[in-house]
Amino acid sequence: MTDFDAPRAPYDLLLARLGELWLKGRNRNDFYDRLKRNLQGAMSAELRGVQVQGSHGRLFVKLSDPADLDRALAICRDTPGLSSVSPVLRVPTDLDGIERAAMALVQTEWAGVDGAFAVDARRTFKQFPLTSPQIARHVGGAIQDATERPVDLSRPALTLGVEVNEERTHLWTHTQPAPGGLPVGSAGRVMLLLSGGIDSPVAGYLAQKRGAALDAVYFHSPPFISAASRDKVETLARRLATRQNGMRLHVVHFTEIQKAIKAAGGDRLTVLLYRRFMYRIAARLAKRRKCRALCTGENLGQVASQTLENLTVVDRLTDLLTLRPLITFDKVEIMAIARRIGTYDTSVLPYDDCCTLFVPRNPAIKASIKALEKAERRLEVEALVEQALAATEEVRLGADGQPIVAAE
Ligand code: ATP
Ligand code: MG
Repeated sequence: MTDFDAPRAPYDLLLARLGELWLKGRNRNDFYDRLKRNLQGAMSAELRGVQVQGSHGRLFVKLSDPADLDRALAICRDTPGLSSVSPVLRVPTDLDGIERAAMALVQTEWAGVDGAFAVDARRTFKQFPLTSPQIARHVGGAIQDATERPVDLSRPALTLGVEVNEERTHLWTHTQPAPGGLPVGSAGRVMLLLSGGIDSPVAGYLAQKRGAALDAVYFHSPPFISAASRDKVETLARRLATRQNGMRLHVVHFTEIQKAIKAAGGDRLTVLLYRRFMYRIAARLAKRRKCRALCTGENLGQVASQTLENLTVVDRLTDLLTLRPLITFDKVEIMAIARRIGTYDTSVLPYDDCCTLFVPRNPAIKASIKALEKAERRLEVEALVEQALAATEEVRLGADGQPIVAAE
């Protein structure tokens, strides 16, 4: 028995299948075009000469170099809106030719692999002389005769896919799952509060998966918080940027606000006062960038600042909706997604976050809005927000995740 995970034949073509549900909806064409653009962008950012073509509600990815297959598959597995992907062989639609190609393909891909098989045949070309079940029987019979491999239609270990279109037919033996969801950007833009932790990049990914394109905002406190913390956030931002053909990361300098809160005796309310400023500033940036919502990695009960009471007092600062995709997740579930999307190893690097700065050992678990408003009366809230916005840096990340340096 050998490993059946990786395709062996050289392929220069992938069939990327779309999530089924939205295919029938009103926005079908918009979604389809957007998905095609997203996939083309993600491919072109890394691989040379790749062309994404649409046909019959599918996308085909044509590679200029078969050596790019693994990367191209990985990009498809990471593209929201796709449900699965297969490397495919393309042959002219002709019964004998299809049978020969099927035989050659399974001899390469199934060599040394045990197990019964099935043929999953489909045709979009209704004038083809055989129906789908007849195609399956015909091709399956030929394989069985030649190889003596048993057929099992209910639980096959191996499946040969055959799809007959008018001029060309596609054949495949390997199918890998893609994320499903909706094409990034189809739901509009949201402003992600991105810290260097495990949660917020996962929250951003889940919002992307439901069609939201992201801008990200990071609150940074030099010199108390190191440049390494900022680098870590930029690394996480890059992982999100590649999924949406580029992203803007707004870096807000938060030090003056934190000093002012400390000077005003923020005490047990310190973290919540920080968070209220974060929300105010994020909302202002969001409106400037025409974002339709905020998005955070907040999670019910995980830390003192995330009780229902404390989430309520940050929720009242803007009329923008706040998405909290992780609100009910367990940490282990969040960690599993972080590993899958490749952010975990970066997130666990041990650098500080500004939320730990000047923070008392026993933060308030249930803060009242009155107490917070009283503390804020001792602060020049609007002036502090304005100053922070004026000093905000914007880092533009390209489709390849790398910073775009403005031309001189
Ligand atoms: P994470 O793992 O994402 O850092 P956390 O469990 O550490 O989350 P908190 O530090 O309380 O939780 O932060 C909750 C959320 O607030 C974060 O998920 C993020 O959306 C936002 N946030 C916290 N700190 C920052 C920051 N420095 N810059 C931007 N957003 C932040
Ligand atoms: Mg954090």
